[in-house]
Amino acid sequence: MAVQPTEHAEQLARSTRRARLRPLLREVLALLGEDPDREGLRDTPDRWAEALLTYTSGMKEDAARHLQITFRLDEDEHLETTDEMVILRNIQFASTCEHHIAPFNGVAHIAYIPDPESGKVAGLSKLARVVEVYARRLQIQERMTHQIANAIDEHLRPLGVLVTAQAVHSCMVHRGVEQHNSATLTVARRGVFLSDPHFEARFHDYLRMPLGGAGLG
Ligand SMILES: [Zn+2]
Repeated sequence: MAVQPTEHAEQLARSTRRARLRPLLREVLALLGEDPDREGLRDTPDRWAEALLTYTSGMKEDAARHLQITFRLDEDEHLETTDEMVILRNIQFASTCEHHIAPFNGVAHIAYIPDPESGKVAGLSKLARVVEVYARRLQIQERMTHQIANAIDEHLRPLGVLVTAQAVHSCMVHRGVEQHNSATLTVARRGVFLSDPHFEARFHDYLRMPLGGAGLG
């Protein structure tokens, strides 16, 4: 019989879901040849269940929630050109590969160019929250990158969006497929970032600027 998603799983209390996961994960340990009752493993099914629920806590969350409140740039700050870029870089994320239920961790950089007509921008912390919503799911890195770009594109309606993500996949490292120092890079472009490579070149120039405000004085 095909296994269906547990009906309304996300509506069950977290404690209920953890309680139902516990015996299943205990069974996994036993099938690995472990003694689930030995001291080091006694509480593992419970911790494991809690970890899995945390890793997938963004599954039913709507990223729109974080992009509802937007700011309009003030009149005197009104963008006069169409290439005023907002960049949030080094957003750390921890996600879970859906093929191996193994972590992949890395950083994302986001750039977007607000539409000078609407002047619509989002709080910078909200962009980081959007990354988190999509990272806390069973994921593949390519899809996560596109989902982040789509959410910003849809809710801020900017002239362009660029999202890059760089991550180390433990499923690859542990299976020896990937060198420990190599990382996977994914890019999603929308709007002017697709039509004019000049914007992406400028984004990379900005990324090379030192962090911590150095060079801004
Ligand atoms: Zn994997």
